Amino acid sequence: MLNVKDLSFSYHKAPVLTDISFQLNSGETLAVIGESGSGKSTLLKLLYGEYDLNKGHIFWKDVEILGPKFNLITGPDFMKYVAQEFDLMPYTSVSENIGTFLSNFYPEEKANRIKELLEVVELIEHSQTKVKYLSGGQKQRVALARALAKQPEIVLLDEPFSHIDNFKKQSLRRSLFSYMEKENITCIVATHDKDDVISYAQKMIVLDGTKLIANNTPEALYRNPINKLVASFFGEFNVIDGQIIYANALKVVPKSGLKATVEQSFYKGHYYLIKAQLKGKTVFFEHPCKIKPQSQVHLSIDRK
Ligand code: ADP
Ligand code: MG
Repeated sequence: MLNVKDLSFSYHKAPVLTDISFQLNSGETLAVIGESGSGKSTLLKLLYGEYDLNKGHIFWKDVEILGPKFNLITGPDFMKYVAQEFDLMPYTSVSENIGTFLSNFYPEEKANRIKELLEVVELIEHSQTKVKYLSGGQKQRVALARALAKQPEIVLLDEPFSHIDNFKKQSLRRSLFSYMEKENITCIVATHDKDDVISYAQKMIVLDGTKLIANNTPEALYRNPINKLVASFFGEFNVIDGQIIYANALKVVPKSGLKATVEQSFYKGHYYLIKAQLKGKTVFFEHPCKIKPQSQVHLSIDRK
């Protein structure tokens, strides 16, 4: 189990993280979410032992993770960290990069292992390509495969799909997370994109104003967002009579007390997002088709 207790940290004077505590069971995936600058990357670096804490402790099972004051080499060997800015060896092939940390003693095993990882990150056809010729997204996939190569117990992924295009993203996420689940690898993912984690994380923490402001399952946080920041992670929402109501929970009905005037319809694929005025405030709701501007509609809040 990962156990983070009362962690506080600052680079200079201003606190970046204050009194952060959470736990994660082995084999689980934790999503770390928060706005840009909220300290997600810093938290991952601290978990990796890159800096000394101002206060608090980090334990993996019964091993304490300590910073550079106590360790010559950053990063315990049971842990791998894929930074937002991944560093690969540009002049060697994808396969060689993935195999960097694998022993040459059993060449056949090494080759099989590399092939397995190439399949997980969908790079088989690029196995012999030099890394410098790859796109940003392909490099990111090489970095992910390399992190998994030596079967770490725990991986820290910082915005792991940020460079990967939408064509590949969906299948890569599925493939990567099912691989980690199968291998019982504990995973911590920092992201600002709900689709990166919502289907895969068992737990989610939210960082805001140096503090951990929420810690729950993605489902619980979605159903009962404690504030606008949490709601905004999951999608478009409104505040009606002080309550957070997602755009997909506002429905057009024949008659209700909520009468709105439609302004604009935005095509979203399987629905339209409708912008309207309700009691002098802008609201958004989802609807199966376009609605003419200036139309009057009655809205109802779907509490499901
Ligand atoms: P996030 O990953 O959520 O965008 P970061 O952890 O990168 O946030 O940054 C948190 C805060 O720490 C920001 O205010 C950022 O400017 C600051 N920060 C990050 N790295 C450093 C550093 N190496 N030195 C000083 N300040 C830093
Ligand atoms: Mg970051």
